[in-house]
Amino acid sequence: MQLPKSLVEGYRRFLRDRHLPEKGRYLQLAELGQAPTAMVIACCDARLDVSAIFDAEPSALFIMRNVANLVPPYEPEGRYHGTSAAIEYAAMVLKVPHIILLGHSRCGGVRAYREQIRDKADEQGFIGRWLALLDDAKVAENDVAVYGQEIAFELASIRSSFAHLESFPFIRKREERGMLALHGLHFDIGSGRLIGLDTASSRFVEL
Ligand SMILES: [Zn+2]
Repeated sequence: MQLPKSLVEGYRRFLRDRHLPEKGRYLQLAELGQAPTAMVIACCDARLDVSAIFDAEPSALFIMRNVANLVPPYEPEGRYHGTSAAIEYAAMVLKVPHIILLGHSRCGGVRAYREQIRDKADEQGFIGRWLALLDDAKVAENDVAVYGQEIAFELASIRSSFAHLESFPFIRKREERGMLALHGLHFDIGSGRLIGLDTASSRFVEL
């Protein structure tokens, strides 16, 4: 089984056009380690290129991706928590000053939950249980009026993950001490528009 040709060719272009001209910087990054400006929690959706959206250099973003960009509540007694482990590492080891929850338009995970596309297999599987995190997502009437039902639910999911993030004691503590800021953003794939949660008014506004 071989890698797809497009990926091998892409890798060769990366080596030639990006890595080689910036070799000094990559060597420096390898030696010094990472010091990201922000952690981004984004969806796995292949249409979402997180580094491109922020025109971010290598090492600028510590990116965690999962289905529908969800954050579970703080559950210290749980078993395998990949997302929570990444959050802990970003906050406690890397000491990132910002955590960004990045939702997006036409999210298949959010849509599957909304339309209850679950069959018996899903109940036993991983996706249905993971998306059950959306059970406490509450759609804001104002979001529906401004952005429509579909996006309003994606925004509700960001609001819900925002609250879950604040249920982590070490996150709340760092936030209260002014060492960490949380952000909720939503990216529209078609238009490229980014809107953000204004915590003062609890509304999503243009950046
Ligand atoms: Zn998605």
